[in-house]
Amino acid sequence: MEGWTRRQILAQATIAAAVYTLDPHELCCGSHAYAQTAGDESFELKKVGDGVWAGVAAARYKVNSNAAVIETNDGLVIVDSHSKPSAARSLYKDVQAVTKKPVKKVINTHFHWDHWQGNQVYAQGNPGLEIISSDRCKERLTDPNAVMGGTAFIEKQIAAMPGEIARLKDAIQKAPDAATRASIEGNLAQAEAYLAELKTMTPPVPTRTVSQTVRLQEGGRDIQLMLLGRGHTDGDLYVYLPKEKIMVTGDAVVDWMPFIVEGYPEEWIQTVAALERLDISQLIVGHGEPTPKSHLTFFRSYLTELVDAVKKGGAAGTPLEDMKKTIGDSLAAKYEAGFSKYPLGRYRDRVGVNVEHVYAKIVKKS
Ligand SMILES: [Zn+2]
Ligand SMILES: [Zn+2]
Repeated sequence: MEGWTRRQILAQATIAAAVYTLDPHELCCGSHAYAQTAGDESFELKKVGDGVWAGVAAARYKVNSNAAVIETNDGLVIVDSHSKPSAARSLYKDVQAVTKKPVKKVINTHFHWDHWQGNQVYAQGNPGLEIISSDRCKERLTDPNAVMGGTAFIEKQIAAMPGEIARLKDAIQKAPDAATRASIEGNLAQAEAYLAELKTMTPPVPTRTVSQTVRLQEGGRDIQLMLLGRGHTDGDLYVYLPKEKIMVTGDAVVDWMPFIVEGYPEEWIQTVAALERLDISQLIVGHGEPTPKSHLTFFRSYLTELVDAVKKGGAAGTPLEDMKKTIGDSLAAKYEAGFSKYPLGRYRDRVGVNVEHVYAKIVKKS
């Protein structure tokens, strides 16, 4: 950023805000943009092991991440805090129905907005709370130029939301039928509530960071915080329970289509391969239902075939727009059904964007 004028920086921030509102990770413009989504911040708390739960987020226009809840002898460890305090409060209410133990630690798997913006709920009135992330994740959370998460990104969203709200209102006027209109009205209500909540957000950043895999002996439970390499971001943290064979992945593994915009596609393949070598029976993924270990192979195969196809297309000089269509079609037989289980993050909504990001990161760069 050195040498940049304030105007250039503002222009970049505006571009970032524009890109942000156009990405299917948050809302979007594909055919499923107006799919029916939950009106409230609801979670389904699913027991996945003794004293371990997955907080599976309902599909919402304003996305929430999943959480993992780990009970120890003297408290709780919660992994990821969703996109807003009201969501974290909703999950916490469900948690209190199964255990009243205090929250001792919150872990943020990565810096994206939908995984950490609820941190303040656990910190309020809880001065002993430890918030843990990778050191790179914390750097990004405090980086004024980070695009998809962090303290500065809250301000960028506040600036961008009125435009998004105006577009939704416009879309309501143009809705072709009553069902679509009702769906967009639901999205509009979520967007307006989200903007109001953004203005009250002051999520605390991590109080402790790790730069390599560490083992916590937390209230009698063995919890490993693992760094396995770059993937979804450059600071993905994995939470592994070796006794229960449960792995919490954040968005490094999702049951949606992967989100690559800040990812490292080739390294990501290796990182997922490293996960496959571990003794795992269940995964609590960043979005979607908990999955069996076999999902790792499916997820890695998709990334591998996507990267190979884009490299081949790039070497042959195929225009990007053609590749988005041909690769999307050629990989569909193997991956469309498995990556289209939910109203959001579906294969056809994302495959073109995935091709574009892999192209930008690998072909264009070489
Ligand atoms: Zn996410
Ligand atoms: Zn993410």
